[in-house]
Formats: sequence, C-alpha cells, structure tokens
Amino acid sequence: MRLLVIGGVAAGLSAAARARRIDPSLEIVVLEKGADISYGACGLPYYLEGRVRRAEELIVHTPEYFRKERNIAVRTGARVVSISHPRREVTLDGGERVHYDRLVIATGARPRTKDFEGATLPPHVFTLHTLEDAERLKAYLCDKQPKQAVVVGAGYIGLEAADALRRNGLAVTVVEQGPHVLGRGDAELTKAVRERLERFRVELQLNTRISAVERRELVILATGLRPNVEIAVEGGVEVGRTGAIRVDEHMETNLPGVFAAGDCAEAPHLVTGRPAYIPLGTTANKMGRVAGANAAGRRERFGGVVGTAILNIFGMGVAFSGLSVEHARREGFSPVSARIAAPSRPGYFGGKPITVELVADAATRRLLGGSVWGEDGVEGRINVIATALHNRMRVEDLEQLDLAYAPPFATVWDPVLIAAQQLSKMV
Ligand code: FAD
Repeated sequence: MRLLVIGGVAAGLSAAARARRIDPSLEIVVLEKGADISYGACGLPYYLEGRVRRAEELIVHTPEYFRKERNIAVRTGARVVSISHPRREVTLDGGERVHYDRLVIATGARPRTKDFEGATLPPHVFTLHTLEDAERLKAYLCDKQPKQAVVVGAGYIGLEAADALRRNGLAVTVVEQGPHVLGRGDAELTKAVRERLERFRVELQLNTRISAVERRELVILATGLRPNVEIAVEGGVEVGRTGAIRVDEHMETNLPGVFAAGDCAEAPHLVTGRPAYIPLGTTANKMGRVAGANAAGRRERFGGVVGTAILNIFGMGVAFSGLSVEHARREGFSPVSARIAAPSRPGYFGGKPITVELVADAATRRLLGGSVWGEDGVEGRINVIATALHNRMRVEDLEQLDLAYAPPFATVWDPVLIAAQQLSKMV
C-alpha cells in the first residue's frame, strides 16, 4: 500500500513521519516541487535579520535523512500537475504518473502578490515565503545595498520583515491599506505597534496603498496568503467558504482516502464553531500528524484552533488568541472587553508593563478572545488565554485560575487575572 504526500514542509512531512511510525510496512513517497524540504519558514525573518547566519540552519532534515532514518522517499523537483482520484494517481510536470492508495495534500499556500498576480515580480520586489525567497532577498541586500525599503502589509510577516530590514540599517516604511495592523481591527493594539515602530524609526502608513512601485529601491509584499488548492479542486476535492480545502475532523476531504493538511486546508475554529483559514506552522504540524495517522489506518481527530499567534516587534511581544471585539461582532456575538496594564513581575524583579485585553460574550459570559503585548511575559499569558478558549471557559472560570506566582516570574495577581476581574464587572 502506498501513501503519497504532496508537499515536503511542515504538514507533508509531519504526515509522512507519523504514518511511518504507525505502519512500518507502508510505502511512503513525498513529492515536493521545490529544491528544499523540511525547513522552518518561521525562522526566515531571523535569517534576513542576520541572527540566523546560514540558510542551512533552518533546514531540519534532508531527503537523505528521511530515506535512511525513516524509510520515506522524498523527491524534490517533483511538481504534481494533476490528481486523478478515479485512477488513484497523480501526474507530474513532465508526464510521469505516480500511483497512490492514500493521498495527503499538503501543498501549503502562496503569497498574494497584488497587482503582480500571476506575473514575474520585478527584480526589486520580493515576497518572504520560502527559503529561496529569503536567499534571493539576502543576495539583493548584499549586492545592491538598498538604503530604503517599503513593506506592503502590516500582518505578522510584514512586521517581522520590517524589523529585520531595519536592523540591517535600512529606512523602512510599512504601508497598510486598512486602518489597523495585524488584521484584528483593534485601535489600541495598532497604537501600541505604531509607537513601537516609531521608536525604532520605522514609519507606519495606514489606509494607504503603495504607489510608484517602480521607483522604490526595495519592496516586500506581505499582503496575505492564498491556499494552493488548484490541483486538488481540479481533481474533485471540495473547498470550503474560506477558499481552502474542506476537511472533516479526521482531515479527510470529500474524496475517501484523500486527506489535506496545513496551509492549504481549513481548520475548525473552536470559538466561532465554523471553519477558518488561519495558516500557521503550529497548526500545519498538528493537522499533518492527524492526516498521516488516519492515512495509515487510524481514526484520530484534529481538535481545532483558536487562532493563537505571537510575534516580536523590536523586543515587544505581541500575541493574540480567539476573537477581537471587531471579529466577535462580525461573528454575531455581543462582545464586551476589558483592557488592563500591569507589571509582568514585581518592579524589584525587573517587571515591565504588560497589556492584557480580554473579550467575552455579554449573553453567555464566555471568553471569546484576548490579546497581550509588552516586553516581558507575553507568551505565558497568551497561552493561558488560549487554553481558556480551548476549554470554552467563562469569565468567572478564568478569574479563579490557580496561576503560578513567585517574584522572579509573575505578580501575585497575574495580569490575566486582573483583566478577568475587570471584565467580570462588565458582563
Ligand atoms: P508549506 O510550508 O507552504 O509547504 C508546502 C509545500 O508544498 C511547499 O514546499 C511547496 O513547494 C509544495 N508544493 C505546493 N504545490 C505543490 C505541487 N503541486 N507539487 C509538489 N509540491 C508542491 N507559523 C507559526 O506558527 N509561527 C511563526 O512564527 C511563523 N512565522 C512565519 C514566518 C514566515 C516568514 C513565513 C513565510 C511563515 C511563517 N509561519 C509561522 C507559517 C508557517 O511557516 C506555515 O504555516 C507552514 O510552513 C505551513 O506548512 P505547510 O506544510 O502547510 O505549507
């Protein structure tokens, strides 16, 4: 029996590795159109910045490793151009046909490139999506020594790219067509990010579209992602309302024996109860694991997401999970929110101000989301909020949590608990 996997990064290789652990007798073949496999795209901004010195440091495993250690055949430069499910085969660029018994589609996503959609980007315009993108961008910085850069899009990749370029000495402007950063519709979060950027002399232009691209020295397009679903759709796989591949809780598509995982697929959102498209590495790995297990004969479930993300902007952690007030309204809730600022640790232990915002549904008192930002202790707090969201906790449950305290780590009233107390007065 042959398991075929299309895509050799987070979701595809998680699926292949998990299937191998479950069934040592399975033949497993991974087809990857690019030259690189198994790399941490999340590290690309740090390679651009220079903190990660060599691109190879981002590569976790090679095809050779998979062949020798896992008995998994990984073929690079193998682009799948079509899927024929009735024949249980895919066709590669070049005409070769490869049979499958089970298929995992892990084709990821590609950057939206605005006005350049479908065309080759001019030599000074880049995206930051693959290892190859990052290497080309690094080479451009080295050869052309640009002094200025425009980053289009104030999502997390745009902000991380801005940080990396500024640390390379470039004058950076971030141009965002919407009124807020990070797609949260949150004015206070936008203000905090703007202040941080300005402190490090990065300009943020909101409600602005980039103009005169040809006269810029360097442009990075970070305007969101489009799931790679074309070959799947042509092969009869259905997409959901988000445009990504629709899967059930076992990561199986509408075609029996065909699974999908990672940035090409939707995930159930545990707060809204509806499928969402939130392409992140952490989710891709988990989905891939479940798809691989089930392709190998198990019946495992993917639990869903709450949309937790974190990024670093010039030393300030910014994190969020669940819905913002604006998202909650759009989803039909009646949101109330409370925002507090408190020290991350006692002053005598170097505590720094941390802001916590919590959002709850007025009708049910259920927690809907939260965001946290500051220079210290952001990850721990957002993970508490994410856990609360996974468990559908209400504000009074959150308020009662027995969180850890000792002066080197936290304050006796943790900022999350203070925010929950404030919110409790309002719902
Ligand atoms: P991909 O990594 O996109 O892999 C899909 C693979 O499929 C690609 O290699 C592609 O070449 C191949 N493929 C596509 N079509 C075909 C075909 N027809 N035939 C053969 N092969 C094909 N996530 C986080 O959780 N935290 C972070 O901090 C974070 N930071 C990020 C920073 C950057 C700059 C970027 C770009 C991403 C970041 N992510 C982060 C997101 C994370 O990297 C992705 O969610 C993750 O890589 C998705 O994995 P995937 O396997 O689904 O897709």
